[in-house]
Amino acid sequence: MTAQVIDGVEIAQRVRTDWKPHVERLRADGVTPGLAVVMVGESPASKLYVRNKVRACREIGIHSEEHLFPESATGETVLRRIEELNAKPTIHGILVQLPLPPQIEVQRVLQHIAAEKDVDGFSLYNVGGLVSGGTVFPPCTPYGVTCLLEYSGISIAGQNVVVVGASTVVGKPMALMLLQKEATVAVCHIKTRDLAQFTILADILIVAAGKPNLITAPMVRTGVVVIDVGINRLPDGRLVGDVDFEAVREKASHITPVPGGVGPMTVTMLLVNTIRAAEAALARQRAEGALAS
Ligand code: NAD
Repeated sequence: MTAQVIDGVEIAQRVRTDWKPHVERLRADGVTPGLAVVMVGESPASKLYVRNKVRACREIGIHSEEHLFPESATGETVLRRIEELNAKPTIHGILVQLPLPPQIEVQRVLQHIAAEKDVDGFSLYNVGGLVSGGTVFPPCTPYGVTCLLEYSGISIAGQNVVVVGASTVVGKPMALMLLQKEATVAVCHIKTRDLAQFTILADILIVAAGKPNLITAPMVRTGVVVIDVGINRLPDGRLVGDVDFEAVREKASHITPVPGGVGPMTVTMLLVNTIRAAEAALARQRAEGALAS
């Protein structure tokens, strides 16, 4: 069996095409979705990520603003700006580009973002919503993975899903989202004994560990769906995931490449969350208007 390669670039484009009419409807109602990106310091990688996000916003018709601070900025300065953005009606989503310099307490900054503008999904309210099933903004990378599966016609309910990696940004929210979609979920991490005894059971294997070649062909069963979230730069400059792509694709039914798999979905889901935030803001405004009249 040779796997069908899931094309993240093509699916990301389809998702954006599907959401573009939402932007057009909002604009017809006088609302342009707005995203503020807060960045502290001059890291070239962060600058590149921010530039990509701003470009993606422009392409779909979202207004975006960059709020840049020097590396030496204090936590108080950043918190004050977040408060201003929380109160700004033309901004529906706020994203703080991580990492932040060591003098700034990351959690304090993230928890300062109003839940209804937390389009990265890191506020405690949104994290709690992953458990309770309330309406939230799911974190963009796991949201992108569920979207890749859905657009590829792969059902989640009732499947054995193994998630390798248990970080706050990817693995843990991923597992909770899959549980809500009625998968049977196992989560593995660095302390898991004999990783292969879990991965071999997976109908769907999602890997987000940041270790090249962590998953090899003998560790998966024939017909598995493999989603490789990992991004690793090898000494020779090549970008690879966590899965031995060439060997595993001979056993899998579907597999994502790196690059060109999960990566393009992450920015796309940020756009989707910003559009949803603008729609929710308009609905609240209308409800308040109806109450007042
Ligand atoms: P992290 O370092 O915060 O977490 C890694 C997780 O993997 C931890 O839970 C750790 O216990 C587990 N792990 C590490 N080595 C392991 C091993 N040998 N066996 C089993 N588990 C192991 O990383 P993260 O932020 O969750 O990111 C994971 C990977 O995904 C990285 O390569 C990162 O670059 C990539 N990533 C990609 C995107 C994207 O858009 N495609 C987004 C976020 C992260």
